[in-house]
Parts: sequence; structure tokens; C-alpha cells
Amino acid sequence: MNLSTPIEQISGIGPVFQKKLKRLRIKTVNDLLFHFPHRYEDFSNLIPILKVKINEICTIQGRILEIKTSRTWKKKMFLTQAIIEDKTGAIKVIWFNQPYLTKTLKKEDNLFLSGKVVLRGNEIYLANPIYEKFYQNKDLIHTGRLVPVYPGTEGLSSRWLRYILKSLLIYFKNKIPETLPEKIIKENKFLPINKALWQIHFPDSKNLAKAARKRFSFEELFFIELFVLRERAKLAKEKAAAFSFNLNLIKKFVAFLPFKLTDAQRKSAWQILKDLERPQPMNRLLEGDVGSGKTVVAAMAALNITKAGFQVAFMAPTEILVKQHFQEVARLVQDFNLNIGLLTGKQDQFRSKKLKNEIIEISRRKLLEKTLNGDLDILIGTHALIQDKVKFGKLGLVILDEQHRFGVEQRAKLCKPSKENKLIPHLLSMTATPIPRTLALTVYGDLDLSLIDELPKGRKKIITKIIKPEERKKTYSFIKKEIKKGRQVFVICPRIEGNNDNEENQQSEAKLSWAKVKAVEEEYEKLSKEIFPDLRVGMLHGKLAGKEKENIMKDFKNKKIDILVSTSVIEVGIDVPNATVMMIEGSERFGLAQLHQFRGRVGRAGYQSYCLLFTDSFSKKTRQRLKAIISCEDGFALAEKDLEIRGPGDFSGTRQWGIPDLMMSSLTDLSLVEKTRESAKKILLEDPQLKKYPVLRDKLVRFRERIHLE
Ligand code: ADP
Ligand code: MG
Repeated sequence: MNLSTPIEQISGIGPVFQKKLKRLRIKTVNDLLFHFPHRYEDFSNLIPILKVKINEICTIQGRILEIKTSRTWKKKMFLTQAIIEDKTGAIKVIWFNQPYLTKTLKKEDNLFLSGKVVLRGNEIYLANPIYEKFYQNKDLIHTGRLVPVYPGTEGLSSRWLRYILKSLLIYFKNKIPETLPEKIIKENKFLPINKALWQIHFPDSKNLAKAARKRFSFEELFFIELFVLRERAKLAKEKAAAFSFNLNLIKKFVAFLPFKLTDAQRKSAWQILKDLERPQPMNRLLEGDVGSGKTVVAAMAALNITKAGFQVAFMAPTEILVKQHFQEVARLVQDFNLNIGLLTGKQDQFRSKKLKNEIIEISRRKLLEKTLNGDLDILIGTHALIQDKVKFGKLGLVILDEQHRFGVEQRAKLCKPSKENKLIPHLLSMTATPIPRTLALTVYGDLDLSLIDELPKGRKKIITKIIKPEERKKTYSFIKKEIKKGRQVFVICPRIEGNNDNEENQQSEAKLSWAKVKAVEEEYEKLSKEIFPDLRVGMLHGKLAGKEKENIMKDFKNKKIDILVSTSVIEVGIDVPNATVMMIEGSERFGLAQLHQFRGRVGRAGYQSYCLLFTDSFSKKTRQRLKAIISCEDGFALAEKDLEIRGPGDFSGTRQWGIPDLMMSSLTDLSLVEKTRESAKKILLEDPQLKKYPVLRDKLVRFRERIHLE
């Protein structure tokens, strides 16, 4: 048995447990050893029975005088009762609903018991204690010590994990190769790996548990840093086509625009066009708050590429968004004779330069043909773009909108090298979710960043308000007034919690999206029938057919709908300048960054706009959180706050790194992130191929494989 031995070959793990472990992504001995407890139960307080105190957690050791299981008559519950005796006295023990206990525990057995002593009626007993039989020469693992408790175990008990882990730790005692360079261990006074592994699972003291944790947090981040720094170095060696900055073309484009670019837009466009001049693939992130005007910047880059005879792939996460881009980009470049295609899961369209600005429906086969023979200049689409059958003849640039919605692998698929000349397309990612510094340095690999940090002129500050239940009526009449003035309203339905992490997904995913539909339908009924019967209310959710969705969005844009009720599908990118009210139900259930995104959907024209945060929660914490968004208009600050409050799990894109939850929290620790980065840089500087660190190198290879498989 070695660290990469699959769990099927570990004795004591049958098929049922194998399946459960796999659900936790535990496939090898190594994965098991690195499945860490998320906390410890302190059962180290071993005392004589005489000294036990009511309502205190204690551990006792004694002999079973008698034990029996009976069934209560009223509640049909199993009661296992025992009397335990030590030198100082005896105490009663009761277990509820664990009838099988009498199979393992017998009279005269010598036991350790940990639990709480309670007083019920006039009876004192130890309630539902953890038990462990005492054997000479065998360490305790469930009682009488700091006992590990494992997270979200999908039907795997901590008891079972302790048992398996203890035997693995014994088997591998002092045999696990050190993964961190000696120097780093010395510098930071870390526990060596063997000791650290032992102490994180079965710590001798709280301090040692802490020290172990510290080492592994460092290690996890250190690996990520090594990985991204190496990937970056690799990318720097790749070749891309170089595109000279076509100044005349860009000047003409800017002159045709119906507005003046902001300075931040100019600067970003300039940085991007400069990158494109180099024969190395660009990997730049264009970050700007909602409404800051990223699309036009992307369109400039696209234009420069297409006029040099290359193609552009433009991918966005939702159909609605893709269609909007299709229209917007076409409008922006309408004077430049380009062929633009639209490819989604359901529908394909084409805008030909011959039929100026007219959209034609086109067969998928035709569209793919044009993509391959280079007849198409820009192809805009959803995930459908990464299917194998979509092949570009001459791809020069990939644009990803809302890039955090895409996985590492999806990005890599679009940006693969061309077969003939190995050239890699340039990559421009865009996001409105500001990435906190810690994440930018780690999972995002510190990509080149362009920031649009100002909104186009003339936009008014959006008034944000918390709406308490008693203010509902008043607020509804306010909304009515806005609509009478000719404005429009978004209504977002409360977020429905789902667990996207576990892999039983599909079914529960489906259930979840139906629950969302139901919430939207209910809100729609209420608003259209009871509250605003005389207004035009529309509804939008993920289960509607593409055509239907499109029609509703169109109607809303064309002011045929006053109020649009929807799930968070409109979170990203939707542009309706006439909308001035964003009303959010159950606002406490959304992250701050997400609320900020919603808010950005209004206030796009010159009208005074409002973001109304409805909440029925009276909790102080909720109010505080919501207040943060009132006082703060800086998406960055809100994202950092979110990271603090909710952890990085919410930044999609971090999940797939397979970082254990426990270590995730270290992703919020800037000084630790910076320290690990420095260490990784130093190691790579003196040994770029990691020749001196074979263990580290192997681990990185495995890490890479894992990321690319998911
Ligand atoms: P986002 O950064 O959220 O993707 P968009 O690119 O969708 O923003 O732009 C939002 C709106 O602002 C669009 O209607 C766009 O035409 C408009 N816009 C972009 N840049 C400017 C500008 N410099 N001045 C005025 N309006 C602009
Ligand atoms: Mg956008």
C-alpha cells in the first residue's frame, strides 16, 4: 500500500463505504489522509465517577455492571440502559435508539465513556455518551482525548473515519515523504509532515492541532501559488499571432460611437490593444462594475482582430446575455462590414455583411461551416461554443464575459493551440465581480488586470433602502408612481438555497430550479393579480423556452412590460436603461456582491434610480449586512466583505480547485497568501523545473490532472 493506492484496496472499506467516500472525492489513501477534521471534541477531562457534575461534559472509565435494551411503551423508542462502576462509585448510562449497542457492549466490559451528565426528574445519568472499549496497549481514539470530528460526511460517521484513519496513520508511521522543502519548514518552524498529519487527526494538545493546521493551510496555498506561477511561466513561452494596433480603424470606431468613452475605457482598450501586438498569448482580465461599459472595449479588440483577417469567439454564460451581446456588438460594429454569428444551445442566427444589419436564422451546419472556413468574423455564444464540433479556421481572440462563471477547463478548451501552427488565441476575460486581492493572487494567478473604475458620466447615484414589512404598502405605491412616470421595475425573487457541491446533483439541481420557478410564479401571481392588477407584469425564469425568454426580454426592453419578475437570471449583464427600480425580495439571502450586481441593473440612463431591499428578517446581523450595501457603492469593498462573511465558496471558480473547506478560510488571509507567494517564487527562481523537489513536482502534476478532469 502506498499513498496513491485506491481506497478499494484498503482493507476494511467495503463497496458501500467506497461509494460514500467517492462522493466526498476521496479516491486514494492520500485523499483519505488529507481529509481533515473540521473541529475537535474535548473529551480529555477524565474523572472519577464520584466527581462528575451535572451538565458538564466528562470522560469516565469503568466496568459494565449490567446492560439491557428495552422499548418504551409510549414512544416506541429503544432505551439501552447500563450501570457503570469505577473505584469511586457507579453511574447510570442511557443511550436512545441504539439497540445494537447490546451486541457490542457486554457485562464486565471495561469502557471509556464521554458525554454529558444530565438530571431528568430525579434521575441523574450520562446521556448518549460516546463509548470506547479499553484494551491494553491501544490508544484511545473516540474518548479520553481531543477527538476529531469530520465535516459533511454523507453518511460516513466520524467514528468510522477515526477508525480507518488511525490504522492508516499507524501503517504509514514516519513513512510519508515530506512535501514541503526543508528550508520552508525550518524558516517557518512548521511541523514535519508525518507529525503534522498525526496531530491534525489525533492531536495531543490544542496547540499541536493548531500548529498542524497552520502547516497545511500554508501548504495548500503554497501549492496553488506554485501551480499558477508555473502555468503563467508556461503561457509566457507560448506563441500567439501578433496584431498591430490599427490606429485608424480604432479612431474611426470611436468617432462612430454615440457617446464619449470614459478615460478608464480608453486606458483599458489601449492596454488590451498593446497586449495583442505581442506574439505571446494575452491573458488579461477586464474588471469593471456593472454598467461601466466593458462591452464596447471588448468590441474594439474584436474589431482590431477581425480586420487583420482573424476570428473572434465571444462566450457568455446565459442565453439572454449572449443575445444581448449579439445585438450590442453588431450595433457597435455596424459600419465595419463584419459577419457575426450567434450560437446557443437552441438557436443559431447570423448577421451577414451583405444583408446589412438583418438577422437571418441559419442552420447549425451552415454556421459551423462558416466558422471553419473563416467566413465568419465573430461568433457569439453560450457554452455551446466549446463543443468539439465548433472549429474555427483562424481564431485570434477569445472573449469571456462573466469569466468567473466558467471553469478553468472550459477556458482552456476555447484557448487550445491551433493544429497547424500551434498558435494560441489571445484571451480577454471580463467580470463585474471584483476579485479580492487574495483570490487574484491565488486562484486567478494574478492575471494582467485592466480596471474600469469609473462609470460613464451623467449617471445618478442609486438610492438604496431597506424595506421592512410594515413599509411594504407604502413602497408599492411608490413603485406605482414610478411606473406612471413611464419607468420600469425589476423584481428579484428570493434566492433558494441549494447545495451545488455534492455530486448527487442532477436530480437535486432539477428540483432546485423548479423551486425557483415556483417562487417566481407565486410572486408573479401576487403582483399581477393583487398588488398591481392594472399594470403589465411579466415573468422570467430558467425553465422558459429560449424563444419565450427572448420575447419577454424584448417586450421589457420595448416598454411593453412594466414590471419584470425574475430569478437571479438577470443578475448578469442585462441592459434596460429605462428601468429605475430594482426590488429584491428576501434580500438577506443574497451575497453583498450579488446585491450590488442587481443594483447595477438600474440607473443606466439619466433617471434617478432605486434599489429596494425587502426583508422580513429582524436579525441584527442581517440588518448590518444590508446596511453595508447602503453605505458602500464600491463593488471591491463589498466583495471583500462577502469573502469575510461568507467565505470564498461563493466565488465560483474556487470550488474546482478542490481546496478543502477547512483551508478555504486561509484564502481570506492576505498576509498568508503573500507569504506563500513569496516562498513559491523563491523556490521557482532557484529551481524552475523543481528538479530538487520530486515529491513537490509529482504532487503538482496530480494537482494539474485533478483540475483538468473536473
Ligand atoms: P457592463 O460593463 O456592465 O458590461 P455594458 O458594456 O453593458 O456594461 O454597458 C452598459 C451601457 O452603458 C450600455 O448601454 C452601453 O452602451 C453604455 N455605455 C458604455 N460606455 C459608455 C460611455 N462611455 N458613455 C455612455 N454610455 C456608455
Ligand atoms: Mg456586461
